[in-house]
Amino acid sequence: MPTLRSLDALEREGLVTPDPLLAAAAETMAIALTPEMLALIDRRDVANDPIARQFVPSAAETVIAPEERDDPIGDEARSPVKGIVHRYPDRLLLKPLHACPVYCRFCFRREKVGPGGEALSDAELEAALAYIRAHPEVWEVILTGGDPLMLAPRRLAALIAALDAIPHVAVIRLHSRVPIVEPSRLGDEVVAALKPRRATLWLGVHCNHARELGAPTKDALRRLADAGIPLLGQTVLLAGINDDVETLDTLMRALVAARVKPYYLHHPDLVRGTGHFRVSIARGQALMKALRGRLSGLATPTYVLDVPGGYGKVPVGPNYLGDDPDALTVGDAFGGRHPYPG
Ligand SMILES: *Cc1c(COP(=O)(O)O)cnc(C)c1O
Ligand code: SF4
Repeated sequence: MPTLRSLDALEREGLVTPDPLLAAAAETMAIALTPEMLALIDRRDVANDPIARQFVPSAAETVIAPEERDDPIGDEARSPVKGIVHRYPDRLLLKPLHACPVYCRFCFRREKVGPGGEALSDAELEAALAYIRAHPEVWEVILTGGDPLMLAPRRLAALIAALDAIPHVAVIRLHSRVPIVEPSRLGDEVVAALKPRRATLWLGVHCNHARELGAPTKDALRRLADAGIPLLGQTVLLAGINDDVETLDTLMRALVAARVKPYYLHHPDLVRGTGHFRVSIARGQALMKALRGRLSGLATPTYVLDVPGGYGKVPVGPNYLGDDPDALTVGDAFGGRHPYPG
């Protein structure tokens, strides 16, 4: 079964019913639902299914709030050459393509991602690499997109080899949804490409619900970890998908059990047409607080907000210190509060 790429295809699977608002929503972003994800959707309750909700368009996407933006995290303002976002001195993003294996309806690059579109040409990729070569302060290159594991295995291997050949690049980090949503792409050739000879490669996998970890995904994560690739987990906090303590607890444990260290829990960005996925920061903080005494440190991600306008990410987790500077107190994970010599 191929990836489903149209409302008609979703309708044939019984995932949507015809609706003009839905057609309008589908115009704003491409559709893609992989067979692996389709197989995990509970057909008895598609409307509330945490997997269907992430990939099946909804009429709610046509509702645009005034605070929503088309470049919610200010990538454009920090792009010195096409395909690069350089916001921090020691690390930058390199986006070789804008295609993804699935299209997540809440995507923070919703206005940019899509099949084909703005993939870098060979000359543009060469210009981006030249920028990195010319900036010795760049210690880490983060491949994102789109999804870098959508590159053909040979192009991926060539790109990683080119980065590996830049002596000041110590770390290559990839952020991808492929291991979760289309593990069949991770053949031996791809896994081999993820092993640069000199630099260290880390792989961040984007996973929002424990149900996304089906048997093929667990197998892919095992092969990646067995190949010696350190794995990080990235989760977006999403209303109606994972914004409750049990769901987050189960997800973080499932990730650690799959050898994936939960790295960030992202507060949802102010993306156009995604208000139905957003939760308040107060709710996110309450969830992090509730997880604190339950989950080990290993299983606990940092809750972060990407400050709108291109100012980078900051932790926005709950504060455990009292706000009286003359009588410092610290809260514990179980609701107690204790004085601490300031
Ligand atoms: C998120 C991001 C990074 C990586 O940030 P970390 O906190 O190191 O994960 C780097 N550059 C840009 C532009 C980013 O948006
Ligand atoms: S895989 Fe990532 S970049 Fe692609 S649509 Fe989903 S969230 Fe956006």
